[in-house]
Amino acid sequence: MTHAIEIAGLRKTYAPQGNAPAKEALKGVDLTIPAGSIFGLLGPNGAGKSTMINILAGLVNKTAGKVVIWGFDQDVNPRQSRAAIGVMPQELNVDPFFTPRASLEVQAGLYGVPKEERWTDELLELVGLTDQANAYARTLSGGMRRRLLLAKALVHRPQILVLDEPTAGVDITLREMLWNNVRKLNEAGMTIILTTHYLEEAEEMCDEIAIINHGQLVVRQDTRSLLAGSDAKTLVLDTDGAARIPPLPEGARAEIRPDGRMAITYPPSRLRADRIIDALREAGLPIVDVATEQPDLEQVFVQMTRD
Ligand code: ADP
Ligand code: MG
Repeated sequence: MTHAIEIAGLRKTYAPQGNAPAKEALKGVDLTIPAGSIFGLLGPNGAGKSTMINILAGLVNKTAGKVVIWGFDQDVNPRQSRAAIGVMPQELNVDPFFTPRASLEVQAGLYGVPKEERWTDELLELVGLTDQANAYARTLSGGMRRRLLLAKALVHRPQILVLDEPTAGVDITLREMLWNNVRKLNEAGMTIILTTHYLEEAEEMCDEIAIINHGQLVVRQDTRSLLAGSDAKTLVLDTDGAARIPPLPEGARAEIRPDGRMAITYPPSRLRADRIIDALREAGLPIVDVATEQPDLEQVFVQMTRD
């Protein structure tokens, strides 16, 4: 298998509800996701990430387009295409009256996993819920519920694991547990697709990245060349404590960093660094020291999703 996922012309229009008009959440997306990768699906709030993921998971019906999961067309082989994918959803919906062990057994039953092929105990161990295996889900903390959702996504040993904002609002321990597991599963051959708000996390974790905005694909590239090819650079200036942002040439954006230095990001194809320095001089700002930085994903993201 070379493509874990192939999406062509994918559209979703949510029907109008009450006073809310119809909403076109996906406007014709083409995207292939290579097998074996850790793939980041990024985009601002409301971009359409969860809609896309929920369509992959078979939870939302697409309006138009083609979705092929692990070689199985969703419309032709719905059962096989669903079996190839496990989704950890964004919402923390767990059944409060099930224990983690029971939840996993029920989920395995839904996917038709025979008793002898179940790996409930291993899964509980994997996500660190062995001690809570027989506790009611309503007594679990938010973090534990998230662990349970990860385990649930894995009961049928899918080839593809999708995580929708898995680390939004979770503590550092849980985040590390998640990323360790994601790396381990990926090394064992699983394709991972994740959405995240934390761009430094995507930069660190993902081999390839797609950015969507307003229901359209803006960019899809391997992370390294995305960063290398972006038209953004940052000047970092020690202005001797002067924290006033002067008028800058068009295209430049400034912020004061916590260490007191001023960081000015600009597009080198359109704007030369000396024009920025001139602007600072004209404003009477002292320049004690200058350094340049290559862009990080955050800057690329801002550039790509600017309206
Ligand atoms: P993201 O996950 O990138 O934040 P979503 O896919 O959740 O974006 O939402 C994309 C757009 O579709 C948003 O404008 C959102 O309000 C709308 N939307 C999402 N789910 C529904 C729904 N069930 N009914 C109507 N509109 C929805
Ligand atoms: Mg979402």
